[in-house]
Amino acid sequence: MSDSSKHISTFLAHSGAAPFNPETGVAPVNLPPMRASTVRFRDLDKLEHVQRRRAEGGRPASYGIYGMDTHIALEDIFKALEDGEHCALQPSGLASIAMVFLGLLSAGDHALVADCVYGPIYEFNNAVLKRMGIEVTYFPSSATPDELEKLIRPNTRLLYIETPGSLLFQMMDIPALAELANRRGLVLATDNTWGSGYIYRPLQLGAHISVIAGTKYIAGHSDLMLGAVVARDHGLFQRIARTQYAVGNSISADDVWLALRGVRTMPLRMEQHAKHAMTICDFLSRRPEVSRLYNPAWPQDPGHALWQRDCTGTNGMLAVSLKFTPAQARRFVESLTLFGIGFSWGGYESLVQLVTPAELARHAYWSEGDLALVRLHIGLEDPRDVIADLTQALEAAKEA
Ligand SMILES: *Cc1c(COP(=O)(O)O)cnc(C)c1O
Repeated sequence: MSDSSKHISTFLAHSGAAPFNPETGVAPVNLPPMRASTVRFRDLDKLEHVQRRRAEGGRPASYGIYGMDTHIALEDIFKALEDGEHCALQPSGLASIAMVFLGLLSAGDHALVADCVYGPIYEFNNAVLKRMGIEVTYFPSSATPDELEKLIRPNTRLLYIETPGSLLFQMMDIPALAELANRRGLVLATDNTWGSGYIYRPLQLGAHISVIAGTKYIAGHSDLMLGAVVARDHGLFQRIARTQYAVGNSISADDVWLALRGVRTMPLRMEQHAKHAMTICDFLSRRPEVSRLYNPAWPQDPGHALWQRDCTGTNGMLAVSLKFTPAQARRFVESLTLFGIGFSWGGYESLVQLVTPAELARHAYWSEGDLALVRLHIGLEDPRDVIADLTQALEAAKEA
């Protein structure tokens, strides 16, 4: 059995272990992917017992859609990572976010959402929430609690943030926002994909709900979709879990198993991504083409003090503004050979994203006008090769 009082690397190394066969006394190391569309009960007493436990909010395996032991093992890991009491796995990170909104808000309710959140939330709001009669106000991520308090209406229920922000990695003050949320009776929910429960733990800082796209660093290998909603409060959690089961979201045992396999090496990967990213920041900071680095672990970043106070490390993410024309920025991105052009970071490989002016326009934090912004995920490649690649691409860009 796993013991969540141990340090997290120890916990991860021992969680999701297969039980011994009661007759032979032998077990494989890993729990296999337990695929099931349904379960069988030995007798009606057992069935009724399981149903009673589920009605009380328990998590016994009782039907295919709820998952079996493989799912429960991964939920236990998310709970340990986030220091939460309850976890509901989700088919993707975006589905996790959608379940928070749909589980907690009804027609006529209002939510305050930080302008730096994961981009597709804007589309979720336009396509779904508006149609359901739920109102969203986006606020600048730099808003102080006093400024934010002025935006609270009698029907405001949810304060939804992402820290560090999705493109510019600005830090938000979770304890200060939690104080406001508690005082005004709001739920504070945060996207913790960046921290993934390893380098940032929002529930310990006062947030009520944390969501993680397990697709990213938890899985770590760019080959599956998964998410999780983690909370401490049972009533709050049940509103989200009930909604999830009511709409029929299910998560493949194979994907859960891959995530179990990936997450055991997350501490190791994260430390290495972080080391490489800081090496790349150091390189970029000396380049004349660079206007500014966006990474709270970088000492000159405006969020550095908050990062030092609230985080225990960083990862492979950073953004850099470049004194390039749009054509030069395109040439830079396309000249890179070790970076894939793409969005979903957190795998072992390096990725680059040329952020569009339309995406930047939503972020009040952006103050560099027409400069190009490039977001980088620094992978596990040798940083000397990554620096050589960035160097040649910066040089090539000037010819555009
Ligand atoms: C990728 C991402 C998501 C969405 O995760 P998916 O599993 O791809 O749906 C949500 N939030 C953040 C911050 C992300 O980076």
